[in-house]
Amino acid sequence: MSNITFTMIKPDATGKGFTGAIIDRIIKAGFVIKALKWTKLSAEKAGEFYAIHKERPFYGELVEFMSSGTIVAAILEKDNAVADFRKLIGATNPAHADAGTIRKDFAASVGENAVHGSDSDENAIIEGNFLFSSLERF
Ligand code: ATP
Ligand code: MG
Repeated sequence: MSNITFTMIKPDATGKGFTGAIIDRIIKAGFVIKALKWTKLSAEKAGEFYAIHKERPFYGELVEFMSSGTIVAAILEKDNAVADFRKLIGATNPAHADAGTIRKDFAASVGENAVHGSDSDENAIIEGNFLFSSLERF
């Protein structure tokens, strides 16, 4: 089992000034930040990142949203990182997210849901490599 996951704080949350509070939750939950940056995805890069959802009806909306503003990307380390982080962020739709989760407290809708979290160890590695060069991690 890998101990690495990857996250992005999405444009809705950075735009509403939630970045600091969300990073605080992540650290308090026991994740160690291994890489971190504030950046903006082009539509092309956002489309590539979410290419797995290409055939879904919400793909165009998702790409437009993810390239609409700044994001904060991070590689996080913790035992059982992928599963524990998905638990910390809550369900994709904040209306179904458990109390105390990041999406419950900071997300507005299923489309604009504040944070991304990798769904597998394999994707955590792929996504971390997509956003970070070797110079940006240690
Ligand atoms: P993420 O991959 O961003 O962590 P997730 O794994 O919880 O989210 P996915 O099924 O991978 O959910 O969907 C990716 C993203 O696509 C969601 O986070 C959300 O922003 C968007 N999305 C998913 N379902 C819908 C929908 N029904 N309508 C609009 N947007 C959606
Ligand atoms: Mg996903």
